[in-house]
Amino acid sequence: MSPPGANFDVVIIGAGSIGAPAAFYLAQAGLKTLVLDRVPSVGQGSNKKAIGGIRATHSDPVKVRLCLRSIQVFSTWQEIYGDDIEWVQGGYCFVAYRDQEERALKEVIVRQRELGLNIQWLDRNRLLEIVPDLNPDELLGGTFSPEDGNASPLLATHAFYARAMQLGAQFHFNEAVTAILTRSGRVSGVRTNRGTYHAPVVINAAGPWAREIGGMVAIDLPVFPDSHESAITEAVAHFLDPMIVDIQPMPDSSNFYFYQHMTGQIIFCITPSPPIQGFDQRETSAFLPMVARRMLEVMPRLKNIRVRRTWRGLYPMTPDGNPIVGWASQLQGFLLAAGMCGQGFMLGPGVGELLTRMVMDQTTNEDLEFLKVLSPERNFATVEMLK
Ligand SMILES: Cc1cc2nc3c(=O)[nH]c(=O)nc-3n(C[C@H](O)[C@H](O)[C@H](O)COP(=O)(O)OP(=O)(O)OC[C@H]3O[C@@H](n4cnc5c(N)ncnc54)[C@H](O)[C@@H]3O)c2cc1C
Repeated sequence: MSPPGANFDVVIIGAGSIGAPAAFYLAQAGLKTLVLDRVPSVGQGSNKKAIGGIRATHSDPVKVRLCLRSIQVFSTWQEIYGDDIEWVQGGYCFVAYRDQEERALKEVIVRQRELGLNIQWLDRNRLLEIVPDLNPDELLGGTFSPEDGNASPLLATHAFYARAMQLGAQFHFNEAVTAILTRSGRVSGVRTNRGTYHAPVVINAAGPWAREIGGMVAIDLPVFPDSHESAITEAVAHFLDPMIVDIQPMPDSSNFYFYQHMTGQIIFCITPSPPIQGFDQRETSAFLPMVARRMLEVMPRLKNIRVRRTWRGLYPMTPDGNPIVGWASQLQGFLLAAGMCGQGFMLGPGVGELLTRMVMDQTTNEDLEFLKVLSPERNFATVEMLK
């Protein structure tokens, strides 16, 4: 562990879904990398609140491409590095019980297939062959993308962390960044509660807290956290493969998604409506009666299953539902990787590699196209449909 005052090529603020894979790829590229996090260990921010869903089936082409790359990384990780990150390729299924959702999903599929995704629309009967326990009443059909899946956010982030350390990256925990150091219009390092570290590149990967970090150098990042509720049930015998997503808005909630974990539990997550904005992560069970009704409407078989634990976590939201990845125009060397919304875990490896190419000045033409869409300077007006 380097003492305060040491020099690095890159300092990353935040050892979460983005910071840990970014450290792995930066260290692999031979850069002297320091990751600082104010909590005691890796992945303890929004990362550990994620339920582990990983899909490339987005409506935005950039997210599709980044997540296709992430899926390659997650799905081959154990084979290459030996760490079990609980990757399961169970697929994703977006269900439609009303014409609106059927129309919207079919429209997105056209774009997704053009981008090379393996996704199809299944009518009611074909969908019931894949997910026999869906409520058949009024079911119109749904999408099925068999190559999507899920993995453990804690195991995966820990795997990136451990391999990054083997490659020479350093992680300092219980160390909060309190200031960004600058000299002549460019970044020169960071100050923490323990001292200062010098580096020509500082990456803001502070998740829901990224705006606070931006504020240290008067950069107003539009990252506004909101609270999402989750829960896990008791374990039951295996009966369900894909993640089920219901995008139909209902009273008090918008999106709702759930899957059966490889160890048998059902894990589910709800997007409250109106959103609960701010940093409140105190878990409640107040949402359970609402979510139970919703769950039984989609899958009546879950009627008697018992919920074992609830939690609440933060989505680092941007106004248009797309992440912010790019160099800050106001301060050379300050790289922004924030606002991952509800998809930071699945974006992690793809974004980590992109950040590395940016720091190494090795961006491809495709990267430059991505960076226009993810630019911190964009107008944030077009909202992604499957955000
Ligand atoms: C209920 C729920 C379910 C979700 N499900 C999924 C899912 O299925 N799939 C998916 O892809 N995503 C999911 N997400 C979203 C995902 O969790 C986030 O998008 C992702 O974790 C954001 O990653 P991050 O690295 O930007 O932030 P984080 O993982 O929060 O990392 C940021 C880190 O920065 C640190 N930090 C902040 N300020 C400072 C400072 N001043 N000094 C030092 N360190 C600092 C924090 O301690 C934290 O560890 C879910 C989120 C929630 C809440």
